[in-house]
Amino acid sequence: MKKQGSKSLIIEHFKKHIGEWVHNQKFREITGANDVPRTIRTLRQEGWQIETRGDGYHRLLDKEKLPPKGIRKAISRKERYLVFHNDSFRCMACGFGVNDGKKLTVDHIIPVEWGGLSEMSNYQTLCEECNAGKQAWVKSNPPDVMKQLLSLPTVDARIETLFDAFPNQEIPSNTIQLISKGSLDWQRAIRRIRQKTGKKILPVSRALGKSIYQYFKA
Ligand SMILES: [Zn+2]
Repeated sequence: MKKQGSKSLIIEHFKKHIGEWVHNQKFREITGANDVPRTIRTLRQEGWQIETRGDGYHRLLDKEKLPPKGIRKAISRKERYLVFHNDSFRCMACGFGVNDGKKLTVDHIIPVEWGGLSEMSNYQTLCEECNAGKQAWVKSNPPDVMKQLLSLPTVDARIETLFDAFPNQEIPSNTIQLISKGSLDWQRAIRRIRQKTGKKILPVSRALGKSIYQYFKA
């Protein structure tokens, strides 16, 4: 896996020199590979914010990667209208709409960072404030774990893996609902997991229609 090696070596060097211009030659020395510009293009496609100059210099602008390009497809005006229309021009989280002075946005129900698709079935209406809140919550979860978890075939497997990934931590029911992908069976799934495995997954609090669960692991 030479390619993988060069990529991580390049990123490692970039991260130690954020904002500094580094020449292709330097990366050739570090990686022993010749195709540095191509590797840098790949890294950029993966979401690394790398600026490139015509004279063979590159610099990394931020140590954090953005979500990969190409997956998040732009939403057309027609799609946007249909999403709002299907949701009766109201935010699906707080219930307020344009008439209440809210600005509506189209949200990916399963975030793109977690492998959610850019298609109508994964869109919903959120007001700007609820969308900002959701973004903050999405960023607080490790994308790799969430992406892998969401790829599991059954609701039970996804929920059990979620609790295994975050033992002794409070997990809000909206997270459980989201990884259940619309299945209304998630509460029963928790009971099934409890019965099958003996894992102590219990509700710890309930407020304003939102409940919080926790896996009490010894
Ligand atoms: Zn809202």
